[in-house]
Amino acid sequence: MKRILLIGTGGTIASGMTKDGLTPELSPEQLLHYVPGISALCKVECLSLFNLDSTNIAPPHWIAITRAIRAHYHEYDGFVISHGTDTLAYTAAALSYLVQGAGKPIVLTGAQKPISDDSTDSKMNLIDAFTCACSEELCGVCIVFSGRVILGTRARKTCSKSYAAFSSINYPDLGSLLDHKLLCYIRPEHLERPLFSETLNEKVGLIKMIPGTDHELLEFMLQRKDALILECFGVGGLPSYDDDRLFQVLHEYTRQGKFLVMTTQVQNEGSDFSVYRVGTRLKGNPHILEAYDMTTESALAKIMWILGQTREAEEVNRLFYTPVAHDMLHRG
Ligand code: ASP
Repeated sequence: MKRILLIGTGGTIASGMTKDGLTPELSPEQLLHYVPGISALCKVECLSLFNLDSTNIAPPHWIAITRAIRAHYHEYDGFVISHGTDTLAYTAAALSYLVQGAGKPIVLTGAQKPISDDSTDSKMNLIDAFTCACSEELCGVCIVFSGRVILGTRARKTCSKSYAAFSSINYPDLGSLLDHKLLCYIRPEHLERPLFSETLNEKVGLIKMIPGTDHELLEFMLQRKDALILECFGVGGLPSYDDDRLFQVLHEYTRQGKFLVMTTQVQNEGSDFSVYRVGTRLKGNPHILEAYDMTTESALAKIMWILGQTREAEEVNRLFYTPVAHDMLHRG
């Protein structure tokens, strides 16, 4: 029988109602009591890392999860991580860079309703997650939610209330689950041994452009951060109003060694800064990168991971444009 480690981190799935609203309070062992059928699938051991609403999950928690997987990697055939849904896509993206090429499934799941609710989706998601963690066909970081298996670098929470809360952006689902049986469409590849990293540079910010974004906001962020992600409009470009101050600010700070990751706020199909004059003028600066079809979650985690290793522009470019777990399909 397969051995699976259930890592508890909190979320709605583990929440109970308090006078102030839902709060995570159940341990992973308590979660398992609600789904006794899992004991017929595999032998489970539990590790409670923290019990947080995922609103409170931050990069040090991603490192803690990575360390737990690394410490126990050889003892188990697969891993299930129960997690709040709100930042689940960020954690999945981060783990995709921190644990690369794993030959075992590392499955994140959660739920929209607490496990004690009559109408909960927790039980289905947990059974499906364990089914995937026991699978011979799957490996690496993925999210299993509402019958879908989504690659860790491609997930996004796209519904705040519905059970089908996650979508796979610019990439097909890896598989689906019907009656708790896995249909695997894509078999992820893996390395002989996973590559673990435990260093992230947290000094990364994100600005969603609005019509009228002013240069002082950019300056404020760039003074404090080593890299900034700019979610632009459409396929991408930078406004030139205000005497082109935004452009000047970007160039001033990239000269100082800061990095920009240009992306789009449009969910599907990605950026292409080579189309419009407002975009092409950003090309050719080695400190300005383009995310193309990556999700913002993955672009953010990837630049944190890269800047945790190097600030050298050529190496930053090489690492950024080297696909990891199919995070980037188009590169111009
Ligand atoms: N606020 C919760 C969390 O992210 C939502 C959920 O788990 O569905 O922890």
